[in-house]
Amino acid sequence: MHTLFMLTEEKNQENLETRSSVNFIEAIINEDLRLGKNNSRVHTRFPPEPNGYLHIGHAKSILLNYGIACKYNGKFNLRFDDTNPIKEEQEYVDSIMEDVRWLGADWEDRLFYASDYFDQLYDWAEKMILDGKAYVDDQSAEVIAEQRGVPTAPGIESPYRNRLPEENLDLFRRMKAGEFQNGERVLRAKIDMASPNMHMRDPVMYRILHAYHHRTGNQWCIYPMYDWAHGESDYLEGITHSICTLEFEVHRPLYDWFVDQIQETDYRPRQIEFARLNLSYTIMSKRKLLELVKEGYVNGWDDPRMPTISGLRRRGYTPEAIKVFAEKVGVAKRDNVIDVSLLEFSIRENLNKTAKRVMAVLNPVKLTITNYPQDLTEDLITENNPEDPDAGMRTIPFSKELFIERDDFMISPPKKYFRLSPGKEVRLKSAYIIKCNDYRLDERGEVVEIFCTYDPESKSGGAGSNRKVKGTLHWVTVAHAIDAEVRLFDRLFKVENPEDVAEGEDYKTNINPDSLKVLNQCKLEPIMANAIPGEKFQFQRIGYFTVDPDTTPDKLIFNRTVPLKDSWSKSAL
Ligand code: ATP
Ligand code: MG
Repeated sequence: MHTLFMLTEEKNQENLETRSSVNFIEAIINEDLRLGKNNSRVHTRFPPEPNGYLHIGHAKSILLNYGIACKYNGKFNLRFDDTNPIKEEQEYVDSIMEDVRWLGADWEDRLFYASDYFDQLYDWAEKMILDGKAYVDDQSAEVIAEQRGVPTAPGIESPYRNRLPEENLDLFRRMKAGEFQNGERVLRAKIDMASPNMHMRDPVMYRILHAYHHRTGNQWCIYPMYDWAHGESDYLEGITHSICTLEFEVHRPLYDWFVDQIQETDYRPRQIEFARLNLSYTIMSKRKLLELVKEGYVNGWDDPRMPTISGLRRRGYTPEAIKVFAEKVGVAKRDNVIDVSLLEFSIRENLNKTAKRVMAVLNPVKLTITNYPQDLTEDLITENNPEDPDAGMRTIPFSKELFIERDDFMISPPKKYFRLSPGKEVRLKSAYIIKCNDYRLDERGEVVEIFCTYDPESKSGGAGSNRKVKGTLHWVTVAHAIDAEVRLFDRLFKVENPEDVAEGEDYKTNINPDSLKVLNQCKLEPIMANAIPGEKFQFQRIGYFTVDPDTTPDKLIFNRTVPLKDSWSKSAL
């Protein structure tokens, strides 16, 4: 059903460059403007239901709606579609506002809630009853669903369909007054039980729900259904282009029918559908994300492995990278699956230009330079970011005892191993060329110390700095090292399409059991003692990392955002 676009890094780049500047939604808007519709206004909205945290798919929608408002000098609203009190909570409202704001989408003073319109919606419903356009049905949800039938044959009309307006009005008022139990009655639009579009077969407008609502409290015990509330909310806010995902395409006739019932002037909102964002190796259903949280597969909605905006933020993603990603993905009319590597590519590109390069040793082993003076500490100069001309330089202490990466030493290396091994030379980044002469093993045969000599003439930036050796290693001094915990994340799912499962199994069987690896012996260069939560770094030769919000003065915690591409082949000075 879905086509998987396998995007290599080069293709990603190509993709960015070949996109035409007007997408199909903009083409529709341009035509509306040409015709002078809605006084040539453009007004969009993002309408989340506060029943979970926002994810990268929502980010796509937010940036699309906000981007269009900006492009056409229009307006953008944030509206909570809070019509289902059972699943909705204030916590979700707060997180959604934080995430939309973080992405840079500014709703200015236009923060709304569908629940702001409950009175107006109710009044319109009474009017529809009096116009013979809506009726109270006493049947159960099951019977109503059965009578609706199948698309290929007309449905069965409810025995209550031709109730007189006065009786409908009386019953509807009593529904509102709380006289009936949940499910006892509903209000239905009177449209067409023979329509080939099932959504037009007398859809439910109101149901009885004795439930506390996070904003209206116990004021209401009837709640409007999505289709009824949505178009009318658009209308009340003066929305011109109501952009939503493809599953609403079949709802569009109903959206239009409901707007027809209340339209008073030439102004009219229109619904436009685009393909939702799907990502490989990723689950995007809010219900399933909630399940992962509730059942402890992840540590909360903002776990850095989650595709939520808060998870991506904690992982080290920036709004800029997400924007670039959303633009690269573009706006499609057909469902597709985007390779998650495109998202990783976007953050890597962004951090490459902005993140300070630092030295961090994740799996340390001790290295002693036998011919280096015992008590000497040199302040060596190193670049903060060669990609950023304004980033400047800093000093880093160097002394006799160092840590290097355990992986950077091998006793009997294969051919083409350009890191350290007995008798071989490497450069220590921003420091000297060293040669390995010996090593010491513990009783289990593990290397515990490497012994080297250094070439005092080979200092980086000095007269002898142009002497070439094949490998360059990062390092930190034992005496100045800062301890840290580093969390490495892998994809949360083992397979491209986590929903693709055998009969009787569900997406959870595809969870990657090794998606989190915690390293707690890591050693960082001393300036890292001042790192603050959210700050981003490139750990040289390893990847991009950010400081986790759980960091305390006693315990520094870093999250790996993404590994470096080809980290080992590109060991530059
Ligand atoms: P559900 O309705 O199942 O709870 P939802 O993801 O549709 O989940 P909403 O809060 O209704 O949640 O979504 C808000 C808006 O975000 C809608 O306009 C919806 O079309 C859009 N949206 C949701 N998921 C995606 C996605 N993967 N890609 C693009 N837009 C999306
Ligand atoms: Mg939805």
